[in-house]
Amino acid sequence: MKGLTNTRLVVLVVFILILTILVKLNSGKGPEPFEKQDPNEIIIKPINQDLEIKMYDHRKGQLVTMALEDYLVGVIAGEMPASYELEALKAQAVAARTRTISQMKSFGGRGCDKAQGADICSSYAHCQEWVSKETMEKNWASDYEKYLSRVQEAVYSTRGEVMTYQGEPIEVFYYSTSNGKTEDAGEVFSHSLPYYQVVESTGEEDAPRFYDSVSFSNKEFAKIFEKNYKTKLDPNKLASQVKIRSYTESGRVKTISLAGVTLKSTDFRMMYGLNSTDFTLEFGKDSVTIKTKGFGHGVGMSQVGADRMAKRGSDYKQILKHYYRGVSIGSYQ
Ligand SMILES: [Zn+2]
Repeated sequence: MKGLTNTRLVVLVVFILILTILVKLNSGKGPEPFEKQDPNEIIIKPINQDLEIKMYDHRKGQLVTMALEDYLVGVIAGEMPASYELEALKAQAVAARTRTISQMKSFGGRGCDKAQGADICSSYAHCQEWVSKETMEKNWASDYEKYLSRVQEAVYSTRGEVMTYQGEPIEVFYYSTSNGKTEDAGEVFSHSLPYYQVVESTGEEDAPRFYDSVSFSNKEFAKIFEKNYKTKLDPNKLASQVKIRSYTESGRVKTISLAGVTLKSTDFRMMYGLNSTDFTLEFGKDSVTIKTKGFGHGVGMSQVGADRMAKRGSDYKQILKHYYRGVSIGSYQ
């Protein structure tokens, strides 16, 4: 019996030795932050018991699972300048978190169809902007540590907080710069929502993209319209053929007609790549100049406006309640 036990012991010791050698051989590359499953799916271990989100990284073509709050750090870093006031960054964090959970499958959301099982993707054009730590390092250079900790503070200090209206997470919209007022959602999207009303957004005139202008030659202008609407526009008669027809309550253009075709200003904005639907037209001899005010659709929070409110002393809840009327701010859990 004793001999047999010794043999077992030797086998066990040899087994442990082999295992130790194998582990050492594999650890040559240093600590591995990711638990690799298959090359297209990596799992970043959540640092705590936060909710997890599955994000499709469209730049790397990988489905990444991570803590929702860690994901939001990458969103805020991509969505708002980290130099903005902390209270504005916190308002952005709550807005982005609300936007995110509405889309997550675990909350009954539609997810993202770019990858099987994805809740959201990192593409601004498809779902929501998200940037990696490497991109932050590149963008922020010597300010990396400072800006990362600001963004992390904005996210972690509002952990779990979302905006709700009548108990449901709201449909979130935000944009860069207003024209001085926000827009009714119904003017831009398919339907109005009670918490999107026209409100003042002051102090943005000095923002880099508050004023902009683009010029087209008369021919170019006519050609773009013709290509999109299959209707002839006379390059020599633009002043009489192009007319702004109506304005929205916020002072943005509502409708415009070109050679008898009436368009929504949102379609006109897309067609000519304008910063906003608050525009004026100036017809020169050979060219047309379109001057815009603001940058973005104007629905909900203006990021510049949020920064300006914070500078004037508002906290993130006051900022959110200004741009999203009648909402409550509470935890999703
Ligand atoms: Zn997507």
